[in-house]
Amino acid sequence: MKLAVLKERRSGETRVAATPETVKKFTAMGLEVTVEQGAGLASGLTDVAFGEAGAKLAGSAAETLAGADIVLKVRAPLAAGEGEVDEFAAIPRGALLIGILGADAEGAARYAAAGIDACSMELLPRITRAQSMDVLSSQANLAGYRAVIEGAAAYDKGFPMMMTAAGTVPAANVFIMGAGVAGLQAIATARRLGGRVSATDVRPAAKEEIKSLGASFVGYEDEESKAAQTAGGYAKQLSAEFYAKQAEVVAGHIAKQDVVVCTALVQGRRAPTLVTAAMVASMKPGSVIVDIAADAGGNCAVTQPGELVVTGNGVKVLGFTNWPGRLPAASSALYARNLLTFLSTFWDKDAKAPKLPEEDEIVKGVTLTRGGAVVHPLMKPAA
Ligand code: NAD
Repeated sequence: MKLAVLKERRSGETRVAATPETVKKFTAMGLEVTVEQGAGLASGLTDVAFGEAGAKLAGSAAETLAGADIVLKVRAPLAAGEGEVDEFAAIPRGALLIGILGADAEGAARYAAAGIDACSMELLPRITRAQSMDVLSSQANLAGYRAVIEGAAAYDKGFPMMMTAAGTVPAANVFIMGAGVAGLQAIATARRLGGRVSATDVRPAAKEEIKSLGASFVGYEDEESKAAQTAGGYAKQLSAEFYAKQAEVVAGHIAKQDVVVCTALVQGRRAPTLVTAAMVASMKPGSVIVDIAADAGGNCAVTQPGELVVTGNGVKVLGFTNWPGRLPAASSALYARNLLTFLSTFWDKDAKAPKLPEEDEIVKGVTLTRGGAVVHPLMKPAA
């Protein structure tokens, strides 16, 4: 059985879906692994290292994909017109494709029509058994870390209080908006750097988590926020009245901050706008807003996805996209392990082939298409 690992061609994508470490494990599982030449270079993984781990190297996407039974990707394969290579058309019918595919119902229908069994890992249920396959967590954790590092680099003073013979530099006030996986890592990182850290969230459980990391909680709570969490652990979309009250509470706080890190997301929706243009205007020159929600439209009204904006009052707004891709060696290593765990969990050792039981909660959560049909409940065409 052949497993193919393609080079990622989407703009700004630095990650790769396998590493020499996971290739070795796949080979031990009985798979023949082919890696496209140069696939790991942006993550510091050479063709030689992949070769030594037991992979064959192929010179093109078509050659890599020829005869593949399993295809590992970070992002969705490029389709005709999306880039110089039509990766989609080169995936053999019947192949199992695993990646962060970000498909909607239309996209799922295209995989079904092409006979590709597509698994989209960002749809993984956030349950304990799935933790080691959880690509959202592994990538968000690194994004939260990197956001603080970039914020500290862009800030024109230091994070820790520094008492020197020439005088004292005060500690930076750092405010983390959204305390999920990325936000909690951002709190921990900002604390390690010596910042004075506060954070907000709407899910009731987050308040204790914020405090347990040594940050203070700033936020608005009411009856609505007591039920702000879905059964899957995500934040719900809340009412306009709630967001207005929340804005009132955080506005005065934001005016006193040196660095604001935005991480708030609502699953399946545009990121909520939590920092208005007026709040940005209230900040001191030299302050920094890091918006890692930029991929989902951003939490800050001034954010331009993919750009650094410097406002008229001298506030820097970092709206870079693909934050985990800014630490490609680490994000590829963790992502590759997530995929290895997924495949080895659903692996038939005797047949040396994947075995994905339709009724399994994890399999059900990630499977978009199977045997030429769309099977994911959120992606099925209306009856
Ligand atoms: P996420 O990326 O969807 O959102 C980031 C954070 O933004 C969340 O904490 C959310 O509550 C917050 N947010 C949304 N609207 C907000 C607003 N208006 N103001 C302030 N904050 C706002 O979240 P995530 O990091 O993916 O985590 C989602 C949930 O999944 C959490 O409950 C987390 O503990 C849980 N989780 C479980 C597992 C597991 O058991 N396998 C793994 C990872 C995460």
